[in-house]
Amino acid sequence: MRGAVLHGPGDVRVEERRDPEIVAPTDAIIRLTAACVCGSDLWPYRGLEENGDPAPMGHEYVGVVEEVGPEVTTVRPGQFVVGSFWASDNTCEICRAGYQSGCVNRVLMASIGTQAQFARIPLADGTLVATPGMPEPELIPSLLAASDVLGTGWFGAVAAAAGPGKTVVVVGDGAVGLCGVLAARHFGAERIIAMSRHESRQELARRFGATDIVTERGDEGVARIMELTNGLGAHSVIEAVGTQSSMTQAMRSTRPGGHIGFVGYAHDVALPGDELFFSLVHLHGGPAPVREYLPELIDLIWRRVIDPGQVFDLTLPLEQAAEGYRAMDERRAVKVLLTP
Ligand SMILES: [Zn+2]
Repeated sequence: MRGAVLHGPGDVRVEERRDPEIVAPTDAIIRLTAACVCGSDLWPYRGLEENGDPAPMGHEYVGVVEEVGPEVTTVRPGQFVVGSFWASDNTCEICRAGYQSGCVNRVLMASIGTQAQFARIPLADGTLVATPGMPEPELIPSLLAASDVLGTGWFGAVAAAAGPGKTVVVVGDGAVGLCGVLAARHFGAERIIAMSRHESRQELARRFGATDIVTERGDEGVARIMELTNGLGAHSVIEAVGTQSSMTQAMRSTRPGGHIGFVGYAHDVALPGDELFFSLVHLHGGPAPVREYLPELIDLIWRRVIDPGQVFDLTLPLEQAAEGYRAMDERRAVKVLLTP
């Protein structure tokens, strides 16, 4: 099969990879209908994260089940399925508490690489959720978004306790931040302030439910949030970048008693204990338990209540994955969909 492999910083190649096979009786093999490039793929692509190249790439996926192992009971060949970037058993105590991304048996899908024609899905019963039928083509991008960015933005909004009467700030205008806006809107937030300086992203943020746009960053961004919130700070802040500056901005934009949902993949972020101590904020975040939300997200997409697929603004054949990485790296694209 063909699949994307990272050979070193800036060097993604689509090449022959071994066809996946059932290894454990709980595995499934899917034929990818669509895959995509994630903001987190850019960390190793930029050489900012050691990923042991050459490494297969990709962890978001939707597709059709080709084959299942003898112990798989909830999905069968021919079904269209969506899964999360962590394979999880969905039965352990952590999973049952709604934290499938911390499953005691979890497998990171990035280690398998779903920017490919086929993929082995470990723990298929726990990981995959079948759609009610074969989706119309226009639903595919939204279902693919559910695999990671939508589920991650959703978790950000849940962790930030977004809801009726709340002012929500979203730090980060990538696909996750934009999906955080959409989730906050779905949860009934009164005011949603998207921090973005890119016109096309601002427009999508507004379409997803943002009521205000703040273009300033850093201390100026914080000052602007304070102006907009009577000097109190926001009730809820979704941090969707993962850098020191975005986290600091999130901390300082949150009012005492408020909640921060941090879902940006954190790199070299340190929080000063004294500032944390006096901030009186709730901090919750990490890799999103997307699997927890998948049944609800699929239902909302299926009934066309939400349309998160709008985050994909560039579609390329898998063979042109390298161009997809470049487009995202240069911020020419919010998110790139790859068709195997
Ligand atoms: Zn588990």
